[in-house]
Amino acid sequence: MDIQTIGIVGAGQMGNGIAHVMALAGYDVLLTDVSAEALQKAVEIVDGNMGRQVGRGKITEAEMVAAMGRIKTTTTLTDLGPSDLIIEAATERETIKNAIFEDLLPHIKPDTILTSNTSSISITRLASRTDRPEKFMGFHFMNPVPVMQLVELIRGIATDEETFNACKAVVDKLGKTAASAEDFPAFIVNRILMPMINEAVYTLYEGVGSVKSIDSSLKLGANHPMGPLELADFIGLDTCLAIMNVLHDGLADTKYRPCPLLTKYVEAGWLGRKSQRGFYDYRSGEAIPTR
Ligand code: NAD
Repeated sequence: MDIQTIGIVGAGQMGNGIAHVMALAGYDVLLTDVSAEALQKAVEIVDGNMGRQVGRGKITEAEMVAAMGRIKTTTTLTDLGPSDLIIEAATERETIKNAIFEDLLPHIKPDTILTSNTSSISITRLASRTDRPEKFMGFHFMNPVPVMQLVELIRGIATDEETFNACKAVVDKLGKTAASAEDFPAFIVNRILMPMINEAVYTLYEGVGSVKSIDSSLKLGANHPMGPLELADFIGLDTCLAIMNVLHDGLADTKYRPCPLLTKYVEAGWLGRKSQRGFYDYRSGEAIPTR
């Protein structure tokens, strides 16, 4: 299967990163969003990020110019018709994603592969609403996309081998590494990472350690580059809580119950770095532990 043109739906945090890496790898990119402002911002972000890569000598000026020239933007979803592969990276809401695929179907080629970057919605369920569940799979990038090496490729129950291999070849061409995951809640990375973060919050909740001692313990005692609470602030505590709820609901096992202290921070609007306060308070410019 020859993939040359990649359609990306949603030009937010993930969509702009996906456009960035695809264009640099030589793919023609059709990037769409319901918001013209989001598209304009995405192009500016990609331009700025590639500019930094040029500055650090990671890519040449000519490579950047060629890559930027391969990104076309449109607010009309159906302009993605010529795509060989579509990666949906719109807002994490199932009704939105279903509507996008439904609107796309009459305009795409019979062999176009459809994928979703969803972190938590069932790939099998999204696929079942389309006319091609065998050509549908999860294409899950990590944030920030240009930096993170891993892509989880998630097979729905009906995904065929040809589709998996075509997506794997794209990941290879990006110079990234694919991990194959089955379609169960939170896939691999978040299935393991989020319960660890949740356990760190329980450790804090039960008074076993302070924010500082918990983060130092994992950094110095387990050689993690970041402490779990520091990492939770970076990811966003609302996102961590949402993923714990997906695990708890989807696997129906009490071992995934979200820590009440995590819920309390989210209720307070202390969501981590994005709101300037989470397990650390960033408002002074310095990270000060809140407990
Ligand atoms: P975001 O809010 O930054 O961007 C979403 C974009 O989708 C917005 O620009 C919005 O205007 C657009 N959009 C909404 N409805 C649309 C529609 N009908 N058609 C076209 N565009 C539409 O969100 P994000 O963080 O980039 O997340 C996007 C997807 O990636 C989600 O499914 C999320 O679960 C997944 N994801 C996020 C992360 C992360 O760390 N942020 C990591 C991996 C996967």
